[in-house]
Amino acid sequence: MRIYKIYTIGCKVAQAEATELRQMLDRFGFIEASHKETPDLCLINSCAVTLTAAGKSRRLVFKLARLYPHCQIVLLGCYATVAEPAIRENPQVALIADHRQGILAALEHYLSQQRSGKSGEPSGSGDIRGDTPNNTYIKPSFTPNVKHKFLQSPIDQSFSLQSRHRAFLKVQDGCNAGCTYCIIPHLRPNVSSVAETEVLEQARRLVAEGHQELVLTGIFLGAYGKTTTRKSRFDTSGQPLVQLIDNLLKIKDLGRLRLSSLEPMDLTRELLKILSSSNKIAGHLHLPLQAGSDRVLWKMGRQYRSENFLAAVQAARSMMPNLALTTDIIVGFPGETEDDFLKTLEVSEKSEFMKIHIFPFSPRPGTPAAEWTDLMIDSPTMKNRLAKLNDLEKHLAQRFRNQFADQTVRVLVEKVDRQDGIWYCQGRADQYFMVRFDGRPELDNKFCQVKIIDTTAEPLIGELTAEKDKDKELDP
Ligand code: SF4
Repeated sequence: MRIYKIYTIGCKVAQAEATELRQMLDRFGFIEASHKETPDLCLINSCAVTLTAAGKSRRLVFKLARLYPHCQIVLLGCYATVAEPAIRENPQVALIADHRQGILAALEHYLSQQRSGKSGEPSGSGDIRGDTPNNTYIKPSFTPNVKHKFLQSPIDQSFSLQSRHRAFLKVQDGCNAGCTYCIIPHLRPNVSSVAETEVLEQARRLVAEGHQELVLTGIFLGAYGKTTTRKSRFDTSGQPLVQLIDNLLKIKDLGRLRLSSLEPMDLTRELLKILSSSNKIAGHLHLPLQAGSDRVLWKMGRQYRSENFLAAVQAARSMMPNLALTTDIIVGFPGETEDDFLKTLEVSEKSEFMKIHIFPFSPRPGTPAAEWTDLMIDSPTMKNRLAKLNDLEKHLAQRFRNQFADQTVRVLVEKVDRQDGIWYCQGRADQYFMVRFDGRPELDNKFCQVKIIDTTAEPLIGELTAEKDKDKELDP
């Protein structure tokens, strides 16, 4: 029997890729281990974008080796690029492959080797440990045609994240923008997109399977259909992302479409027009600000300044009423002065974010910013700034929630539970906040209209006012 476990660390894109990996293992006859089963094969879909994620990925390799001394370990994804010698030399680690090689192509190659055995002849089923020797690394000379695999193999392009409610659709990969703090261009340098026909085919399949919401994801979603994530992406004509969204909205039974993340400069007039054209589009955008000071943005190598960011926010708000804006901010970038930090607070306040993901700067070896050791922010200053931004974040989140008091919002029910004999439904509103209300089990995976009665904390508390078929527009 071939039993595997898969562990994913990292962003939505990495989580979505885990589903691709599962699909491939299924095709090769592997079975996912139940809770108590001991796996023959452990796959780690790793992350190295932050120091914390890299440390987690590293520790997991050794933990699994200790926990399952007879299993083989496959290390895939971003951390595979920077894995230390102790991991490469670990006898249980059978494969290490990163995004430059293509994790799917590498895994497919590895599993084919396993199936074929040493002779190269197919051996059918068998004990995976007996099929090939340990340490079957993908050698640097192995250069699979990643683009071909990515664009041609329909099974590898969509993801459901094992959720009946929401499916993630990865349409773009890679970044070459070169922000000075970011290691992603090193880990995922190949900028590529899935052909629109393939995306639509997968979207239709996911909707037919019962997923009510699709989330378009990519490392740099705004560069969908472009060959670069640098500013020169605007030099090519056409707006492939706009066209893709337009066609996705034509899928009759699609209930809700959400975009994972956009850079402010990609929020063009045409894109905003399509985003505001249908109630199927979730009223939520994630625009990473990173810093409010132009001096810091310049040092970060970001492609916009605070003025551009605020203009994008204003344009979005003018066309998408009740818009929920979320963002990422790095605190304590090397050389960040008190004045720079105050500008971050100022832009955050003006942008009225619903949620700020706050990251204390952590140097990533191999990036320019990691070299600026003499400009690092001391720990007390860092703590102080983090606390101030956290306070502002809480204040803005509460202010955002308050505007929904007595308003009716659309909620996709993602969870139903029973407490003290009462059924409760919980799910996300279009504006991404969680809402909880008295309901019934049959409402699971259905859209409901819910009147908000308590905004004190998330989940917001509401009252069911109506159930809606997903293909019907909300009442104006
Ligand atoms: S745009 Fe900048 S922060 Fe985003 S993935 Fe590319 S290099 Fe990293």
